[in-house]
Amino acid sequence: MSQAKASSNESQFEVFSKVARYDHEQILICQDNHTGLKAIIAIHNTVLGPGLGGTRMWNYANETEAINDALRLSRGMTYKASISGLNLGGAKAVIIGDPAKAKSEHLMRKFGRFVENLGGKYVTAEDVGTTTKDMEYIKMETNHVVGLPEIMGGGGDPSPVTAYGVYMGIKASAKKAWGNDNLGGKKIAVQGAGKVGLHLIELLHKDGAHITVSDIFESGLKIASDKYGANVVKPEEIFSQDVDIFSPCALGAILNEANINQLKCQIVAGAANNQLEDENIHGDMVKKKGILYAPDFLINAGGLINVYSEYNGYVREIAFAQTENIYNTVLNIYDKSDADNINTQIAAIQLAEKRIHDTMILQSKI
Ligand code: NAD
Repeated sequence: MSQAKASSNESQFEVFSKVARYDHEQILICQDNHTGLKAIIAIHNTVLGPGLGGTRMWNYANETEAINDALRLSRGMTYKASISGLNLGGAKAVIIGDPAKAKSEHLMRKFGRFVENLGGKYVTAEDVGTTTKDMEYIKMETNHVVGLPEIMGGGGDPSPVTAYGVYMGIKASAKKAWGNDNLGGKKIAVQGAGKVGLHLIELLHKDGAHITVSDIFESGLKIASDKYGANVVKPEEIFSQDVDIFSPCALGAILNEANINQLKCQIVAGAANNQLEDENIHGDMVKKKGILYAPDFLINAGGLINVYSEYNGYVREIAFAQTENIYNTVLNIYDKSDADNINTQIAAIQLAEKRIHDTMILQSKI
């Protein structure tokens, strides 16, 4: 066998073993010479319903990085939908390329055609690097797209609903930690004064909480301090604040060994995706420190609940009402974590997997 043939077989094997690892149902490679489209649609699990997940456009360093992102994010969507009680599966798409340079109407429309050809098994939405304008182009080729602007019958900006879900997660965590969910007088550190962070700060401020906030840009910080009296600290100082609650609303992987060691709070509950750098190691580390960690994929599900509401004709009040249920689910997870002596992230994953398993039995698939 020639060298070239051996290495092509090796890379093929690697893709299959990656897909097998998380048990994905289908991966679609979307390629088009005319528009330069290079995209991957990863459908993780559709037992509960069509796989819904945004389309991310990113200048990935290489194709392996793009495939890994699609596989990891689509699995996360399965858990998020399941734990939130939605009849949705998990999927995600990534387009390889610089969103500032490589986008065009026809690239998006060609991508929309690939989505259409999946016949509803995959439903797309906006994500990092894509905009509502891109969704409008995709919509020209397929109806399997949600998260459209309100004037097009969509749910509009999901951030207020996401922030409300995080607020519910914080209140449930307070109930577990202190026996009541009143946040008046509580000291809360919020990392990231962006779209979700600022909506959350508004809700916490209304309840009489004292806010400390960090960001790498001035604009959000100014609103947080001028409007809500927040105390501004440097980005690297946010972890060591003497607070009751830490709410990460900026980046993923911030719960790592170095940062966890600095935490003085009793609760971590925020919007950022994939907060635990390693869900086993750092989930356990947080638990051992006596900190209640509200799983991110559960408490930031308001945005997904918001787009799900578009299926039956969007009503904002219904999206908020459904998001409120995050409160009860967080309490269930804390109970399971105590009963089974496992960290809360694993408890949440187990509950999400159980709902999928029970649905398969109901459908007589096993
Ligand atoms: P955003 O971009 O509006 O806000 C993020 C903020 O974090 C920005 O202001 C940014 O400057 C700041 N930031 C970046 N690095 C930082 C650092 N090192 N220290 C402090 N601040 C830093 O994004 P968003 O929509 O508010 O989302 C926040 C997080 O929640 C993201 O992780 C996102 O993936 C997640 N999330 C958002 C939604 C939603 O509905 N918007 C839904 C689910 C999850």
